[in-house]
Amino acid sequence: MGHLTKIDKPIAYGRQNITQEDINCVIEALQSDYLTQGPKIAEFEKNFAEYIGAKYAVAVSNGTAALHLCALALNVAEGDKVITTPITFAASANCIRYCGGDIVFSDIDPLSYLLDINKVRNLLESSPRGTYKGIIPVDFAGRAVDLEAFRKLADEYDLWIIEDACHAPGGFFQDSLGKSQKCGNSKFADLAIFSFHPVKHIACGEGGMITTDDEKLYKKLLALRTHGIVKNESEYTNSIEFAAGTDIAQNYPAWYMEMQTLGFNYRLTDFQAALGISQLGRADEGVEKRKNIAEIYNTEFSGKNYIKGQSGLVEGHAYHLYVIEVEDRLGLYNYLRENKIFAQIHYIPCHLMPYYKQYGWKEGDMPIAESYYKNCISLPMYPTLSSVEQNYVIECINSYYGSK
Ligand SMILES: *Cc1c(COP(=O)(O)O)cnc(C)c1O
Repeated sequence: MGHLTKIDKPIAYGRQNITQEDINCVIEALQSDYLTQGPKIAEFEKNFAEYIGAKYAVAVSNGTAALHLCALALNVAEGDKVITTPITFAASANCIRYCGGDIVFSDIDPLSYLLDINKVRNLLESSPRGTYKGIIPVDFAGRAVDLEAFRKLADEYDLWIIEDACHAPGGFFQDSLGKSQKCGNSKFADLAIFSFHPVKHIACGEGGMITTDDEKLYKKLLALRTHGIVKNESEYTNSIEFAAGTDIAQNYPAWYMEMQTLGFNYRLTDFQAALGISQLGRADEGVEKRKNIAEIYNTEFSGKNYIKGQSGLVEGHAYHLYVIEVEDRLGLYNYLRENKIFAQIHYIPCHLMPYYKQYGWKEGDMPIAESYYKNCISLPMYPTLSSVEQNYVIECINSYYGSK
């Protein structure tokens, strides 16, 4: 199979980039008075909302918690039907199950790999009005969903939208007026969520964020994040006399608070937020580097006969992943592993996970997603991937197919 360049360390499909400055910021937070819910949380939320272009941001312990809180804030209940894509991480669907709702998968578009709006429309048209409550589109691989189109459709059927933007901080699509709409800016979706897992663009170890323009949902999320507790006088429902324990009190005492809904402890810590703030400062730089890496892959693979499809170059793509569809995917995957390149598969279709199969989903239900799954492989893609490493990846792929 030819002579390959030597590399010193294994290459993963994605990895975090922690600088000395990041480390200093975390140390500073650890030496401060707050370890959780201190000033770093508010600063991270403010900076993140500004970066994404949303009015409000709520930091939470991880992306899955963010999804769960969104479902709770939108009052998802037993039997509610919600539509999502099978080509996503299971959490996009699971959040509805946490609330007793039912997930209805709808197939992807074969070129963009995103939830196919026409299939969603067919689903809505072929069911009695009111059957569905919401849609969870996913900016898969970092490619922005056209949320303007989804909003129009959702409005016709009175549905809410949660945008799963875990792959796409810094991504955008162009709306019908030619304006760039950033992923998660909540101009079209009701709520959007992000994750700060180490493989995502911004790493906090664990962490998540919800963005929204809706003040009512924002307030609900703040309470749900911390046990359903409110600490705002104007929202109290018990009397001042009860709160103070005496009839002579004029005001609610300083200790008073009310648990008004059934919430959770989904808080992020201050030192994680400090890391997030520092990472966010390099977010655009990271997206630029990802774009450069995508350009090289795209050029290298264009016209190659073993390529059946690829992420390609799309304006506004945030390139969390660079996916190629190839012949003999298993052979390539194993060959890359033998050569210390740890590519990954995104995703095993969600509807064929044993958990979802018990609800009746089966092979053949999502033909495009299933055929995509047979051929897809995500190549190494992260800002610190060096050109030597990327060339080695390309060399290995060419070597594998060249020798067949
Ligand atoms: C990572 C991810 C999540 C979950 O985020 P966690 O922080 O790992 O809980 C949800 N949806 C998608 C698309 C993801 O990639």
